[in-house]
Amino acid sequence: MSNHKLNTKSLKVDVISSPIVAYWLSILRDVETGLDEFKKNADAISFAVGIHLADRLPTLTREIQTPVGKTEGVFVDSSKVLLISILRSGYPMCKGIHEAMPQAHLALLDVKRDEATAQPHLYYDGLPHSLAEFEEVIIPDPMLATGGSAALVIELLRERKAKKIHLVSIVSAPEGIARLKRDYPEIEITTCAIDQGLNEMKYIVPGLGDFGDRYFGSGALLITDSNGTNLSYRNGKLAK
Ligand code: URA
Repeated sequence: MSNHKLNTKSLKVDVISSPIVAYWLSILRDVETGLDEFKKNADAISFAVGIHLADRLPTLTREIQTPVGKTEGVFVDSSKVLLISILRSGYPMCKGIHEAMPQAHLALLDVKRDEATAQPHLYYDGLPHSLAEFEEVIIPDPMLATGGSAALVIELLRERKAKKIHLVSIVSAPEGIARLKRDYPEIEITTCAIDQGLNEMKYIVPGLGDFGDRYFGSGALLITDSNGTNLSYRNGKLAK
């Protein structure tokens, strides 16, 4: 593991502090958590992150009629937000956040990291040509590891003149945060946890394994833990 002595307090990251978020994250981290539970808890935590973000959006009020009287209704205005859904792992998190800000616009990107080099590649660009009409562009990336994929997306967003870029994760590595803060000091970062660091395969330790594999249940995953023990996951379970 590298750089685990980084001073995470100086990185100025919004870490969501909530017992229920910590509980859902613990279920996600647990190697015994199967596919259905993983999906359920990942959806719940993504919605909670969405509520946290929506708390800062402007609100509108309008008189509404209930079955028994009138009252002032409160409506969150998310119409100036662009949510970027990055295939594959970003998609579930984007979906949960969108539930908390249903008027937000959506754009699709396909970015995958080459497992051999850990370098990201852009396979599909569904971004609007200009982002000037949006007050905020949110990038949900459940596992902020090296920050490589996020950096690629941030470069694209900068080219298209995004006003405010907000990277949102469930688990972050100090290395990824430090890289993004160094190269893109203007961006905001919100996460549910900052972990110890990355292992030699660029997985977050302790992390939760491969988010996409555990959410979608595809493929087997080989990870070496910080003690050098090989772990093989399939569908969110340790494989024999
Ligand atoms: N992507 C994941 O899904 N998990 C990690 O630990 C790092 C990147």
